[in-house]
Amino acid sequence: SCFCELNSDVDHCTCSVNNVDSLNNLKLYPRLQNILQRDYFKFFKVNLNKDCPFWKDNSQCSSKDCHVNQCEETQLPDGIKDEDSKYKHSKESQGEKCDDNKGTLGKLDRTISIEDKEAFDSWKKHDDAQDNFCELDDDSSESSSYVDLQLNPERYTGYNGPSAHKIWNSIYEENCFKPEANDYIAYIQSADKVMCLEKRVFYRLVSGLHSSISTHLTAIWQFKDPFTNKVTWGPNVKEFKRRFDPVTTDGEGPQRLKNLYFTYLVELRAIAKAAPYLNKESYYTGNQTEDRHVKNLVKEFLSEISSFPAHFDETQLFKDEFNNPIKLKEEFKSHFRNISKIMDCVGCDKCRLWGKLQTRGLGTALKILFTNEDQQCKSPLNTETNCNNLQLKRTEIVSLFNAFGRLSRSIHEINQFRSKLN
Ligand code: FAD
Repeated sequence: SCFCELNSDVDHCTCSVNNVDSLNNLKLYPRLQNILQRDYFKFFKVNLNKDCPFWKDNSQCSSKDCHVNQCEETQLPDGIKDEDSKYKHSKESQGEKCDDNKGTLGKLDRTISIEDKEAFDSWKKHDDAQDNFCELDDDSSESSSYVDLQLNPERYTGYNGPSAHKIWNSIYEENCFKPEANDYIAYIQSADKVMCLEKRVFYRLVSGLHSSISTHLTAIWQFKDPFTNKVTWGPNVKEFKRRFDPVTTDGEGPQRLKNLYFTYLVELRAIAKAAPYLNKESYYTGNQTEDRHVKNLVKEFLSEISSFPAHFDETQLFKDEFNNPIKLKEEFKSHFRNISKIMDCVGCDKCRLWGKLQTRGLGTALKILFTNEDQQCKSPLNTETNCNNLQLKRTEIVSLFNAFGRLSRSIHEINQFRSKLN
């Protein structure tokens, strides 16, 4: 039996985690660490200055551990700068010649008027947005900038208390699904039997992400010597135990860790499904040797994934005619988009950066799994499918790989904690 085969009993996966552990720790984790250090994957463009769209009293943590170092333009590879409209515009205004056809409509561009093209662009934007599970930042905004993820690691920042709890509360209370009012008595008796599969999947994905964040901050905890004030970083086994032990969590801890494995398997499936697309990507940074090398690293990584049987079958979702699947899918999307917007309310820049990146990565995985459903991509568990209609921006590919990298790191860390607890 497998760890988390997706069926109506999704909340009670019974099988062992050993298979996932050995795939991850021996094969995927080392490869991913290697990939994520490369230029294409480590520069992430993000807007950390957006206002919180949901509430006003949004105080910001001023601790230096929450600070994010942003990149200077000179640190960026030329290829990434060239693809970026912000730098492209500044180049154009400096009188540099630009290739009008690069990455746009090519020949077609010359046959349509400016107005038509603007209308086309705006419709294209609208169309793309329909598929998205996340609000993407406006890349051309002056407030967006590049961050080197390798230089700003996700770790303990000290962000906690009412501000952090308000975020997690509003995610669970307002944006995870709830049983209908008339199902309330049944809900009290057993939530599993009332909530449909899709809604339970939604909760497990969010909870898995939450567990992953908790794992990182406990794995790279800050210890301060009370006498010398000297700071050191390392795993805090006691804190990990507090967050996941059945005794201190009313029995919830182990299920929360299982949810993390669940989220991992969903993202793994999305990457496997998008493999034909990802294998064709050029990973362009402007340095031919580097780009070829990264393409090979990704290829080897994807081939490793393809040898592992898929444990998540997305075709089981949004198919039950009694549950109005079209409406349900729209609700699923809109709840997830809300969660991505809540990330602009996180009061610590470092947490906001990684929160945005990980929700965007999960949103990209959902986009891969649930768009193109009527196309060839529908074939269940098929990694060879050619997802012709799939279109991913660089920011989505970077988010997807880094988000999966975070989950992969969590599984690695959980094993380290496990060995210390035994
Ligand atoms: P919290 O983690 O705040 O959890 C609140 C409540 O949610 C718990 O009491 C429990 O009832 C429930 N809960 C906990 N885990 C789960 C789960 N897996 N599934 C379902 N329910 C759960 N802090 C850092 O130090 N570094 C970071 O990088 C960082 N990033 C963050 C990113 C985001 C988006 C947010 C919202 C917070 C982040 N934080 C970060 C803060 C961190 O997540 C905790 O809020 C903080 O450490 C306080 O933890 P806590 O023990 O009070 O419980």
